[in-house]
Amino acid sequence: MSMKSDSVAMTSLAGERKQGAVGIFGTGDFGRSLGLRLLQAGYEVVFGSRDPKNSALVAKGSKVMTHTEAAQMAQVIFIAVQRDHYDFLTSLTPALEGKVLVDISNNLKRGQFPQSNAEYLSSLVPGASVVKGFNTVSAWALQSGALDSESTVLVCGDDPKAKQAVVDIAHSLGLSAQDRGSLGAAGELEDIPLQLFPNWRLPLWVATGLTAFFFFYLLIRDVIYAYAEKGQDISYRIMITLANKVFPIVALVMLSLCYLPGAVAAILQLYNGTKYKRFPDWLDRWMLCRKQLGLLALFSAVLHVVYTFIISIRYNVIHTSDTEVITQIKKNQSVPFDNAEAWATDAFLSLGVLGFAMFLLLGITSLPSVSNTLNWREFRFVQSKLGYLTLTVCTTHCLLYGWNKFLKPSTYKWFTPPGFMLCLVVPCIVLILKLILSIPCIDHRITLIRNGWERPTKVQSSKMDAFLEKGTTL
Ligand code: NAP
Repeated sequence: MSMKSDSVAMTSLAGERKQGAVGIFGTGDFGRSLGLRLLQAGYEVVFGSRDPKNSALVAKGSKVMTHTEAAQMAQVIFIAVQRDHYDFLTSLTPALEGKVLVDISNNLKRGQFPQSNAEYLSSLVPGASVVKGFNTVSAWALQSGALDSESTVLVCGDDPKAKQAVVDIAHSLGLSAQDRGSLGAAGELEDIPLQLFPNWRLPLWVATGLTAFFFFYLLIRDVIYAYAEKGQDISYRIMITLANKVFPIVALVMLSLCYLPGAVAAILQLYNGTKYKRFPDWLDRWMLCRKQLGLLALFSAVLHVVYTFIISIRYNVIHTSDTEVITQIKKNQSVPFDNAEAWATDAFLSLGVLGFAMFLLLGITSLPSVSNTLNWREFRFVQSKLGYLTLTVCTTHCLLYGWNKFLKPSTYKWFTPPGFMLCLVVPCIVLILKLILSIPCIDHRITLIRNGWERPTKVQSSKMDAFLEKGTTL
């Protein structure tokens, strides 16, 4: 922590302290960072420490005293001490009577203790109101102000007034707060910081599965086939040629997987005649990880681009091209210029460049710093319209790659389709579904449903018929 910046911040606030005193037990990393932020927000900060004289690192403007003295001065006290050391609090029970204790502690692993830390604290100091909160915010983020991903403080507790006091402090620090219920939910909050990329797990599995499948599929079709049928050892192609086939395939399939759940959801809504019926869990999970799927697809596309750039400096490419030139010179022949091939190659490359540029744009607009500057409609426009355009361009790029290969029998080694053909299946399904869903009468029905319209049930329809019949007989 920079003492200079602390003191600058503090001197500017010195004369204008507007909030009450907040206590912090413990002058460690979290306690000091929180103290600094509280001082900047205009609170008076009192630290309770085992060694009040040794307080050189705390932000200037705060007071360091014994735990009992700090408890007497503050109504809300943050316990910035590891759970293992909570025992000392039992001796402070009289001083902590009626106080709000904020348990910010985390554990090293799930289920480390039978009881959540907050409930344990509450059992040690029954006269205090314990609130679990701030444990999902790191000391580093508090100190540096980089709170983008940690800007929501999750709180739970049994005393609504105590919870409100903690929520008020969070708001004063520029954070939002979310009430997660009673103190019984503390265990769940304590598990949150232990999660490692929870939203990335499924997309990572999908990416790994697709990469492994296509790698082994192409290994068999290209390298093992050449060895078994022609006795050629082309295993050196594994490193670049094979990789440069696998990555674009994975990129295209994963990009289409971002748009498939939207189409499936629209079909389900049409079938149900309402948007108020819950989607199946697997579809919910799929929809929630579309951003991660898209970013992993972009990662594969970047690898494809980089591998493509190095093709011309590869030994076997230079050797093959030199050999061809020398053979033509020796035979005094030249290969005639093929106009159709030139067009196809240029169109293929051009669509590849365009598709990649649009893919990049999609990735950039999904970054919070950019998406926060767009309103909801703009964001949807970019992610949906630009997304489908990117998928169309990339699919055409892939189609052009095989434009003259689809009908050749030699393409189907061991009667298997090549990788680029397999990878077209999902994007083509998505694009066809999109086309069908864009037919005006279907699109109109989907728009109605998404605006809250519901198809009348059979019972409602028969009641309506009976009512109309009655009306006409009268
Ligand atoms: P820390 O740097 O180890 O500081 C803990 C403080 O507790 C010490 O500086 C000490 O302060 C006090 N302490 C140590 N042993 C004690 C004992 N036997 N009895 C009484 N007090 C004792 O830990 P921290 O990183 O600040 O974390 C504190 C709590 O915040 C932990 O429960 C942690 O899980 C939670 N947390 C931390 C972070 C983070 O980013 N660091 C994020 C979220 C939650 P004195 O010497 O002044 O008494």
